[in-house]
Amino acid sequence: MKHYDIVIIGAGLVGYSLVASLKDRLQADLKVAVIDSIEAPTLDSNLSPSFDDRSTALNAKSIQLLQQWQIWPHLKSYCCAIKQIEISDQGGLKTINLDSNDSGVDAFGYVAPNKFMGQALLSIAQKLPVDFYYGCDIKCFKFQAEKVIVSSQLETLSGSLIVLADGGRSEIKTKLGIQDDVVDFSQTAIVANIQTSLPNNHLAYERFADHGPMAMLPLSEKTSALVWSVDTSQAKEIMELDDQSFLNQAWQNFGGRLGQWQKTSKRSSYPLKRVKSEEMVRSRLILLGNSAATLHPVAGQGFNLALRAVEALANSIHKTESKHLGQLTQLLKVKAAIENDQHWTIRFCDELVNGFGHRNLAAKLGRAAAMGLFDQHNNFKGIFSRYAMGLGRGQ
Ligand SMILES: Cc1cc2nc3c(=O)[nH]c(=O)nc-3n(C[C@H](O)[C@H](O)[C@H](O)COP(=O)(O)OP(=O)(O)OC[C@H]3O[C@@H](n4cnc5c(N)ncnc54)[C@H](O)[C@@H]3O)c2cc1C
Repeated sequence: MKHYDIVIIGAGLVGYSLVASLKDRLQADLKVAVIDSIEAPTLDSNLSPSFDDRSTALNAKSIQLLQQWQIWPHLKSYCCAIKQIEISDQGGLKTINLDSNDSGVDAFGYVAPNKFMGQALLSIAQKLPVDFYYGCDIKCFKFQAEKVIVSSQLETLSGSLIVLADGGRSEIKTKLGIQDDVVDFSQTAIVANIQTSLPNNHLAYERFADHGPMAMLPLSEKTSALVWSVDTSQAKEIMELDDQSFLNQAWQNFGGRLGQWQKTSKRSSYPLKRVKSEEMVRSRLILLGNSAATLHPVAGQGFNLALRAVEALANSIHKTESKHLGQLTQLLKVKAAIENDQHWTIRFCDELVNGFGHRNLAAKLGRAAAMGLFDQHNNFKGIFSRYAMGLGRGQ
């Protein structure tokens, strides 16, 4: 049975990002295996469902990390900068406008198509000394003092540290008896790329519409990525609309911005739950990414949060001798570095969903007053901008 210092379960956005963050140590002495149930991917086929037709808003902190891990040069040319953000409430009287120049930066972040992130991450990972085990659905764990034995239908191997990056519907957590704190939003995100008659001018829109929150993220001059979170009871009907009816309905809810909505790509849908794992670490085990916390996509924070957790773990691995990897003392320090960030990011997303969820007139008037106040105060806008950039509350 082959033994590794680290076994990463899940070759999605987070698993591959961790591999890239460990590059120097991999080239020195670290032995790492990555396991996924998907078939072996190539650069244009079989990529994990992580790398589907969605796009991800990467904030400034994430871009900094992707640069540090030398991923950004492989990705930058496929990404579109977010230079302004507009927040609006359907039927409300006020909008909030944020400009990256006011925060002294060129862009709040970039929008990256997941498919290109997958290709960039895979091409980097394939050049590193890592063993990949694809087509392996992990079935069984045996925890021992010095290692964990991991078995799939095809392979059995062991690791000093197991990183669970197996996504939001982790069956492995259930097998390990790890409980989740779950909030069911009863919403489904409908995702499509929309061609518009007017250019987006690098503006990202966040709109709280009566039929659920909508984000339009700039992808290219006249194409934006729509993420529309509708009540699950309405999702099927909206998914079944013909393209023109879908464009009309979405455009109306979006307040007719960006001129005419001319064309839509194929639509996909994702049921939304906020899931927070009640345990993040055990001796020889750490949870990362959606497996640790799955967020509502309303503010585009899930992967950004996960990358900061990857940074905390990678920093710790870089400082730890191989023989001490996976010890509970090491993992508790990583947890301490992550959990405050995780708490505030989850709260930020929950408050956005709840705060804008009430659609009656009184709630709208209250919000209009609050948004007007917010828009006039550079202090509030500064704090919000720092969140949008992933720089936290007061650093
Ligand atoms: C509509 C939508 C829009 C979003 N927009 C944004 C955004 O703008 N910004 C942002 O920061 N975040 C966004 N997110 C969140 C982001 O997509 C997730 O945070 C990210 O995909 C999590 O990646 P992951 O690697 O943890 O999980 P996954 O992508 O689910 O990958 C998990 C991997 O584990 C593998 N696996 C699962 N079970 C097993 C098993 N038993 N054995 C072996 N392998 C297994 C799977 O095959 C998969 O490859 C959005 C999410 C949604 C749904």
